[in-house]
Amino acid sequence: MSQVIDRFLRYVQIDTQSSEDSQTTPSTSKQLQLAQLLEKELKDLGLTDARIKEGYVYGTLPANSVKAIPALGLIAHMDTSPDFSGENVKPKIIENYDGQDIVLNSELNLILSSQDFPELQDYIGKNLITTDGTTLLGADDKAGIAEIMTALEYLATHLEVEHGKICVAFTPDEEIGRGADHFDVAGFGADFAYTVDGGPIGELEYENFNAAKAIVKVKGRNVHPGNAKNKMINSILLANEYIAKLPSQETPATTEGYEGFYHINDIKGDVEETTLYYIIRDFDQDSFAKRKETMRSLTEDLNQTYGAGTFSIEITDQYQNMKEKILPVMHIVEKAQAAMEAVGVKPLIQPIRGGTDGARLSFMGLPTPNLFTGGHNYHGRYEFIPTFAMEKSVEVILKIIELYAKEDLR
Ligand SMILES: [Zn+2]
Repeated sequence: MSQVIDRFLRYVQIDTQSSEDSQTTPSTSKQLQLAQLLEKELKDLGLTDARIKEGYVYGTLPANSVKAIPALGLIAHMDTSPDFSGENVKPKIIENYDGQDIVLNSELNLILSSQDFPELQDYIGKNLITTDGTTLLGADDKAGIAEIMTALEYLATHLEVEHGKICVAFTPDEEIGRGADHFDVAGFGADFAYTVDGGPIGELEYENFNAAKAIVKVKGRNVHPGNAKNKMINSILLANEYIAKLPSQETPATTEGYEGFYHINDIKGDVEETTLYYIIRDFDQDSFAKRKETMRSLTEDLNQTYGAGTFSIEITDQYQNMKEKILPVMHIVEKAQAAMEAVGVKPLIQPIRGGTDGARLSFMGLPTPNLFTGGHNYHGRYEFIPTFAMEKSVEVILKIIELYAKEDLR
């Protein structure tokens, strides 16, 4: 079995599920088990500065060239999603896939259906790794870790391959949105980095949503319904008016690609007071700002009708599109694209309809686009990964390193 598969199968045995309910770093101490294993493996590969700091694993492979080559970072996350169990993962290897349904678990009658997941047809004749139906697989993002480690191992054992400084980091708590919180950008020491945390083979991402949340409060006046005429103000009905005045075709269910949206994801209320919880998403800065303005002016307009203070709104920015931080150093995307093409992988450049740790790191001074791991159907029992995609990921990482080593920036 190839190195990357062997590593992957070992890493997924360790349960590293993170938890939103915990305020510690890492959020669950079991993530440290994998952290300690990775620290040791980095040391065994000769990365003498391998260390764990606040649950993050860091290490550096020094340059073996006198050329001025930029310091390149590689990042993957250790935790798995709180959405589905990551305990006792028993990966199954499907050799030479025949295009039919895959029985994950005959006792529980769990099937990875080729009808529900037509992308399986792309992998006929390949080897796949699936779950046994009772857990997630953890390719998100242990495939990324295995791919980075395998590339490092190659460099550590092929001293004739010229490279610049390579910085690696394995982070906790990405799945609960805290993966960048304690990231030591200065200590990491890279000029730019890639997260290896994308999906199917070829994925390359450097654009993500601008994101804000909005809380709209609506005040009413409760009176006994029997004698409420011209007295009662039902905040639920006013809230309904607010909801109806936002464009009905700009919701998650009606948009795709580069289209933005307003999304109401919670509502709580009674006659006296109703609260609406929205998220606002858009790729474009101007139209993102316009969306916020639309919600604010709708609040004002309705106050004109129903009296000042009836509606109030609080908008909080959450994260930003990394594109503006990537464009000035666009060579990092172009190199990844060229590397994929050089090893026979078709680059699939697409916007991320969400956020990434790379987006936050980009605004912390470390431009960080995202590369594929090869996996599908993250966060659930239908997760799977074709083994050749993992091998291709290793080749892409090594090719990027090689392409940068050809340059001398002096
Ligand atoms: Zn991930």
